[in-house]
Amino acid sequence: MAILVLFVGHWLLSAFFQSSFHHRYASHRMFSMSRRAERIFHVLTYAVQGSSYLSPRAYAILHREHHAYSDTARDPHSPGFFSNVLSMMWTTAIRYAAHLGRTSSPESRFLGGYPEWPALERIASAWTSRLAWGTAYGLLYVWLATAWWQFLLLPVHWVMGPVHGAIVNWCGHRYGYRNFGTADASRNSLPFDFVMLGELFQNNHHHAAGRADFAARRFEWDPTHTVLRLIARTGAIQFRHDTAALSAAA
Ligand SMILES: [Zn+2]
Ligand SMILES: [Zn+2]
Repeated sequence: MAILVLFVGHWLLSAFFQSSFHHRYASHRMFSMSRRAERIFHVLTYAVQGSSYLSPRAYAILHREHHAYSDTARDPHSPGFFSNVLSMMWTTAIRYAAHLGRTSSPESRFLGGYPEWPALERIASAWTSRLAWGTAYGLLYVWLATAWWQFLLLPVHWVMGPVHGAIVNWCGHRYGYRNFGTADASRNSLPFDFVMLGELFQNNHHHAAGRADFAARRFEWDPTHTVLRLIARTGAIQFRHDTAALSAAA
C-alpha cells in the first residue's frame, strides 16, 4: 500500500510540475510570477523530478520546435516518423541533450523567455545528482516494499520525466478523438486526463497553443489548469491570457 501511494504520488506530482512549469510556464508563458515564486517552482520541480530532472530551457526550445513543425519531418518527436516509441524517445533525448549542452543551433525565435538558473541546472542535470536520487528511491523501496513485484515499479521512478514525455508525445499524436481540424495529427486521448493531468488534450492544445485551459468541451477536464487556477487565487501566479471557455468546432 505504501509503495502504491509513493508511486501514484510521484507520478502525479511529476506530471503536474512538467505540465505547469516546463510546458505552460517555460515553453508557452501562459502565466507570470515573481522571480521568487519562479525560484520556488524551480526548486520544487527539481525535488519532484529528482533523477529525471529536465532543464526548462532545453525543454522549452525542444517543445517550441515541436509546435512549429508538428508532425512534419522537422518535428523532434512525431510518432508518424518512428516505428516505435523507444526510437522516437531516443531521438528526442539526443536533441534534448544537444540543447542542454548548447551544442545545437536552434532558430532564434525559439530562444528566451524561459527560467534560467545555471547553478541549479548544473547540479540537477549532473549524473551524481541523478544517481543520488535514484539510490534514494531504491532505499525507500527497500524500506517500504512488502512484495518482490513492487520493485518492478522502481525503474519508472528513475525515468519518470521521459516516461511521461513518451506517453504524451506518442499517444497525444496517435490515439483518441479530434475537436479541431489542425494541420497536424494531434489528438485528445482521454476526455478526463487523469493520467497526464491535461497533457493528453494535444488536439485542443495545438489548436490554441497559448490557452491555459487544455479542455475545450463541456465533458473535458484539465486537472493542471484547475490546480493553477487555485494557485492564481493566492496571488502567487497571474494568468496572461483570458482563460474563458473556448467553444470547440465539433
Ligand atoms: Zn503535441
Ligand atoms: Zn505546447
